[in-house]
Amino acid sequence: MKILAIGAHPDDIEIFMFGLLSILKLRGDKIFLAVATDGCQGGNLSKKELIKVRKKETTVGLSTLGKPYFLNLPDGQLGDNLNHKLKSKNLVYKIEPDIIITHHKKDYHSDHKILSNIISEIVGHYIPVIYAETMMGINFIPNYYIDISDVFEIKKKAVMCHLSQKPDRFINLIKIMNSYRSAQCNAPIGNYAECYSFERSFPFSDITKFLPSPPKIRPFYIKNQIGFL
Ligand SMILES: [Zn+2]
Repeated sequence: MKILAIGAHPDDIEIFMFGLLSILKLRGDKIFLAVATDGCQGGNLSKKELIKVRKKETTVGLSTLGKPYFLNLPDGQLGDNLNHKLKSKNLVYKIEPDIIITHHKKDYHSDHKILSNIISEIVGHYIPVIYAETMMGINFIPNYYIDISDVFEIKKKAVMCHLSQKPDRFINLIKIMNSYRSAQCNAPIGNYAECYSFERSFPFSDITKFLPSPPKIRPFYIKNQIGFL
């Protein structure tokens, strides 16, 4: 299958979607990656320098998955601009993916929200979209979990490539978010999961069969079961 992941900023795919993408890549899917904005707001360097540095960091961070497309839209200013929609649309219809992964419309950052809306508007009923968890899970109800324990170290390395962003804080973030979601599936400490949501809409009433298997079910009341509880 062809999978397209689109993040708003240069480190978003690594933080929010990297585990699932690594598993899809291992499964043999063709992974396409895109970063919508130029990331010029995220640091102390000059805007020009920062754009250059962050592109390099992203290219290295995503190297195990593929080579990213950069749409070069203005960081912090995604919005009601026909060009933003057009550039995203051209990319989507050039790739013609089977599934798109992007941010959720209730995420914390306006670029994340707007990108999410742009993508769902562009694809209409032609391509199913799954939405990554919001920052710290606020306003987010998942309906798909994926165990990423086996690829968590690679995810950490990918996040650490974003040196201009003081990435240690994001390592703490993904440890909290991904272990919390894993504990929701009653996996023991030391396991990690990402979670996503997809909206059921015609003709994509259920797309779970396109996706890798969810985490093992661990009923906590079974004797000798090793789980969080
Ligand atoms: Zn972002």
